[in-house]
Amino acid sequence: MGGMTDATDATRTEARADCVLCGEPSEYPESTRGATYCPVCEWQEAQRQACSG
Ligand SMILES: [Zn+2]
Repeated sequence: MGGMTDATDATRTEARADCVLCGEPSEYPESTRGATYCPVCEWQEAQRQACSG
């Protein structure tokens, strides 16, 4: 299992986009388009949309 670690490290160390609400690292890579949310804010946004109206 040697020689293939470079590719794995590249994906593991890929920079994460910051949450647009609280600034915490999100689960999404920086290359993600649009707004990115951390797990907490993503959940809160889902709740907000579910309760809208
Ligand atoms: Zn957040």
